[in-house]
Amino acid sequence: MDFSLSPEQEAYLTELRGFGEKELAPHYRADDLAGTLRDDLVPAMARMGLTGLRVPERFGGQEADAVTTGMAAEEIARHDFNACYVLLDSALVSDILLAGATDEQQARWMPGIASGATMPAVCLTEPGQGSDAANLALRAEPDGDGWRLVGEKTSISLGMYTPVGVVFARTGGPGARGVSAFFVDLTGAGLSRTPLDDLGSRSIGRASLYFDGVRVGREDMIGAEGEGFVAVMRGFDYSRAVIGLMCLGIASAALDDALAYAREREAFGRPIGTFQGVAFPLVEFATQIRAARHLCYEALALKDAGKDPAVPANMAKWWAPKLAADAVHQALLTFGHAGWSTDNPVGQRLRDVIGLEIGDGTAQIAKLVVARHLLGRSSAP
Ligand SMILES: Cc1cc2nc3c(=O)[nH]c(=O)nc-3n(C[C@H](O)[C@H](O)[C@H](O)COP(=O)(O)OP(=O)(O)OC[C@H]3O[C@@H](n4cnc5c(N)ncnc54)[C@H](O)[C@@H]3O)c2cc1C
Repeated sequence: MDFSLSPEQEAYLTELRGFGEKELAPHYRADDLAGTLRDDLVPAMARMGLTGLRVPERFGGQEADAVTTGMAAEEIARHDFNACYVLLDSALVSDILLAGATDEQQARWMPGIASGATMPAVCLTEPGQGSDAANLALRAEPDGDGWRLVGEKTSISLGMYTPVGVVFARTGGPGARGVSAFFVDLTGAGLSRTPLDDLGSRSIGRASLYFDGVRVGREDMIGAEGEGFVAVMRGFDYSRAVIGLMCLGIASAALDDALAYAREREAFGRPIGTFQGVAFPLVEFATQIRAARHLCYEALALKDAGKDPAVPANMAKWWAPKLAADAVHQALLTFGHAGWSTDNPVGQRLRDVIGLEIGDGTAQIAKLVVARHLLGRSSAP
């Protein structure tokens, strides 16, 4: 078993680190204060190939494997956790399209994702349901040879900015088998949006999207009718491990800052790092972050090997965001009064990382998936 990085992976991480330090980190706080998506962020991410990681090379993408995608997410999140949503949504939608869209559809949609011209949103959650996604209510009403979408999506990351989205809608009867997925132009008639006022990740934002008869055709449907729910669940298995690494990236950055401070700051005539009460909590979080990283990469390696990543990916989704939030909290406390100031990024990191304890599914739902694998469906919650 070899845990070392290849020379290519080392070189890629060095390149990403340079990009993150120069083009992301200096904007992390200012973008939060501005509360809007910086105009040059998506183009900059696209120039680095970070919008096209999972897009095949023939459509202008990087055709990166899942492990490399996770490495990129972890490194980018160290510098700007919120910029990583651009990477995440692009990768998740790319994987949904690779699994379900025809070659012709992929050729139509994926170049725009890779170039950053059409950054996509994932539109699943509704005011009446989030965890219970199979019960979604947004209707696809038959209209000639297509449908008209009627209803509301909410809590959509980047929702004020994205020109396209994968929208899950009810084409059939109740339950998962009545749900289909569409790749929808969100700039046309019948679509309006309002922003949500959030605790964290304010530069990315979330939005409610109102569909008032948005027209879609059969050429916009991903996969067969009634297979939309299966498509998104397959995508989530993978994105949950990437989200885990995103959260561990920001937690590692906070921990590094706390360790540096513990070396310098003195109390009672000694560096505070020499007190076990300061050092040992940091050691415990460093240990757990390292273990959780292995879990995330195991899930992504399974995905690359064509095996089912569901168990480690869902373990990563319940564990890593909570662990990261706890680690960032501990980092904040290590700074004492200096951690309570907005001059220190640690407070923003805490607000931002908590969001992904909810986004893409809560810990309870991830544990539900694992429980069904461990206990068998009939013996699980
Ligand atoms: C930062 C962020 C980004 C997001 N981005 C997107 C996005 O881009 N696209 C999108 O579609 N959605 C997005 N969401 C929405 C997110 O996916 C949902 O909020 C999430 O799935 C939970 O759904 P809910 O909020 O309706 O909570 P509910 O389903 O109403 O759950 C409320 C509480 O009950 C618990 N609960 C529910 N059912 C069970 C059960 N069976 N067993 C035990 N506990 C249960 C939940 O864990 C939770 O604690 C985002 C959310 C956040 C916070």
